[in-house]
Amino acid sequence: MNKLYILAIILLSSFQLASAAITSFEFSDGNTLTLGGRKLCSWCEGQGLKSTIDIEGTTSTSAFCGYGYYNEEGYYVAPSNCNTNRTSYRCSQGHSWTE
Ligand SMILES: [Zn+2]
Repeated sequence: MNKLYILAIILLSSFQLASAAITSFEFSDGNTLTLGGRKLCSWCEGQGLKSTIDIEGTTSTSAFCGYGYYNEEGYYVAPSNCNTNRTSYRCSQGHSWTE
């Protein structure tokens, strides 16, 4: 009974750690990068290897996205964000990629 209780606490606390591990970074151009959840190296996964993944950096375009426009009813429609974030990753087995 006691062992079951401890196991339940361990399962619960590891779930909370995993679900709480979301971090957002805000750039000077207003773009936001949110990291969290779960990520695996697809090359390692395909070969049955285990690896950790380092986040090497992010590039963010800071383009002007236009002024928006006024629609047929006369209401202003703001421009949608045309900027993109590209984040580079490298796994502990040496694979690297950008997404
Ligand atoms: Zn890998």
